[in-house]
Amino acid sequence: GIPLVAIVGRPNVGKSTLFNRLTHSRRSIVGDEPGITRDRIYGEVEWNGRVIRLVDTGGIIPDDPELIPSEIYRQARTALDEADLLLFVVDARTELASPDIDLARTLIRGRKPVFLVVNKVETAAIAAASENFRQLGFRDVYMVSSEHGQGIGDLLDGVFERL
Ligand code: GDP
Ligand code: MG
Repeated sequence: GIPLVAIVGRPNVGKSTLFNRLTHSRRSIVGDEPGITRDRIYGEVEWNGRVIRLVDTGGIIPDDPELIPSEIYRQARTALDEADLLLFVVDARTELASPDIDLARTLIRGRKPVFLVVNKVETAAIAAASENFRQLGFRDVYMVSSEHGQGIGDLLDGVFERL
């Protein structure tokens, strides 16, 4: 069938913005606040005549921040079960901290291809500061701006090459 690619990551890193950018759609809700209630949304991406299915695992995130970590892990496990490749999105404008480090360990143990997508990279200074995300241990690292489109073509080339 058509390969399935899942977007995972903690709230507010830009998963829905990346989904919208990749599918050229406005179907996924983009929020300014972490904790907005959102649905899993599927879309299709065509690139050089090939097609994949994409899922934004934003899911239904409870308003209670205490519940968010378990929800993120549930989504990551579901994605590891269902998807052929995962895009693990982190926010270049935040410090590398435990939620991302723990999630990275879970994803690496999953034995599916996982690309690290460092999002919100719009300037050379942010790109330089984001180098530390390479410590997370992923071989495939893409620095992108989902909002402005930087790095998206390279990411799509990499995804389709791997599937
Ligand atoms: P999600 O919770 O992971 O789905 O994140 P959203 O896609 O809803 O985005 C969260 C916030 O980050 C919104 O205010 C977006 O406008 C912002 N955002 C997303 N992508 C980028 C980006 O590439 N650059 C910048 N500067 N902001 C972004
Ligand atoms: Mg979202």
